[in-house]
Amino acid sequence: MRHIAIIGSGPAGYYTAEAAQKHFGDDVRVDIFDRLPVPYGLIRTGVAPDHQSIKGVSRRYEKTALSQNVRFVGNVAVGTDVSIAQLQDLYDAVVLATGAPQDRDLGIPGEDLANCFGSAAFVGWYNGHPQFAGLAPDLSGNTAVVIGMGNVALDVARMLAKKGSEFDGSDIVGHALDALSASKIERIVLLGRRGPHQIMMTPKELGELGQLDHAAPHVDKGDLPDEAEDAILEPGLRKSVALLREFAATPEHIRAEKRIAIEFAFFVQPRALMGDGKVEAVEVEHTRLERGRAVGTGEVERLPADLVISCIGYRTAPIPGVPFDERQGRFANDDGRILPGLYCVGWAKRGPSGTIGTNKPDGFGIVEKIAADIASGSLGRGDKTGRDGFDALAAEKGLDVVTFRDWKKIEEAEAAAAREGSPREKFIDIEAMIRAAD
Ligand SMILES: Cc1cc2nc3c(=O)[nH]c(=O)nc-3n(C[C@H](O)[C@H](O)[C@H](O)COP(=O)(O)OP(=O)(O)OC[C@H]3O[C@@H](n4cnc5c(N)ncnc54)[C@H](O)[C@@H]3O)c2cc1C
Repeated sequence: MRHIAIIGSGPAGYYTAEAAQKHFGDDVRVDIFDRLPVPYGLIRTGVAPDHQSIKGVSRRYEKTALSQNVRFVGNVAVGTDVSIAQLQDLYDAVVLATGAPQDRDLGIPGEDLANCFGSAAFVGWYNGHPQFAGLAPDLSGNTAVVIGMGNVALDVARMLAKKGSEFDGSDIVGHALDALSASKIERIVLLGRRGPHQIMMTPKELGELGQLDHAAPHVDKGDLPDEAEDAILEPGLRKSVALLREFAATPEHIRAEKRIAIEFAFFVQPRALMGDGKVEAVEVEHTRLERGRAVGTGEVERLPADLVISCIGYRTAPIPGVPFDERQGRFANDDGRILPGLYCVGWAKRGPSGTIGTNKPDGFGIVEKIAADIASGSLGRGDKTGRDGFDALAAEKGLDVVTFRDWKKIEEAEAAAAREGSPREKFIDIEAMIRAAD
């Protein structure tokens, strides 16, 4: 019997468990740990609450979770509650699937001002992540500046633009629904260092900005390159740029029917956030493209900003004893191998890029490597104690472990508390989750 510990119950963790089951069949036992009492990582706390069909992928993970040889071990933070060395003593292989939960810093003056947040915090707030549920962003001002031109920036802009019934069918948490519905923000500025051909926005998500009840996207025609130049773009990006052209062609009197403007500000980079305790403005420098790179022109401008959200990427949280690549912000690894018996997958391996499905080949690939390492003898003789050993350790440490069965009780309680038309009202603190499990 071989024992595998997977740390993190997001997509990368569950795809790894599924691959291990397929590869080893009854000869493996897999424990999936998570620091939260609830599974599925960013499917629950990252993917936008109004994108329920995407969240539906967790049903596939549930099939894996319910099989005999896979176990969910929730409410256990690896690195604090138990160490990597302790897990390595108990399991043949330890796979880190801890994602990239920390916001990357902008690295400019003023980013500690009040009402400036990274997207992990802001998205966590509207999605009910216990760490960020108390964020309480002030939405009483006129202008929000969203830094970044990717899909996360689009999610954030869309959430800031929606009101009341536009959230029907979503699982946005109650505190965020109330705050966003009462929000006074009427101008949302998306800042990008480069131009329309360099956006990282997919057409489906970008197209949604054109379908909002109270908001309209604004693109300046002057920022768009000649249409003939779109021919060189890959098809997805070409569609996105075509949407920007549509937005730019919308007559002003039509756009003005919507109270909220979502403005695309291309070719500007933030230089500083300014304000007296709380953010009031973003100082930006205009840029031009040189061989695909944004280069500052020296022309500086001040944009008013009552709220700033930076959507510029994430970093993995280091774990004591695990080699870390500071520059890349993820575990130091050679295609998923960190040290003998210690591996990584998903965002903890590659950094924060790709879709949910991109994590699947990672999971299957790492199981191939574990199988090869077992075959070569480098993972020992198969005499580790696995889950029995962990249960003894958890009892000794007094850990309050949450099982998959407990999670199903939490899930039931969340469904029972849902607003009409919503799939669930999430618990936003760990104690409440554990009470529901009991
Ligand atoms: C805002 C946002 C929106 C997105 N929207 C989409 C979308 O619409 N469609 C799409 O395809 N992709 C989307 N993605 C991307 C997708 O969510 C990621 O590709 C995917 O979640 C990465 O999977 P992962 O398993 O590596 O990490 P995660 O999903 O982050 O899972 C990591 C897990 O590890 C746990 N963990 C972390 N540290 C520890 C520890 N020390 N001990 C125990 N457990 C720990 C965490 O609690 C978490 O459950 C979005 C991402 C973001 C940030």
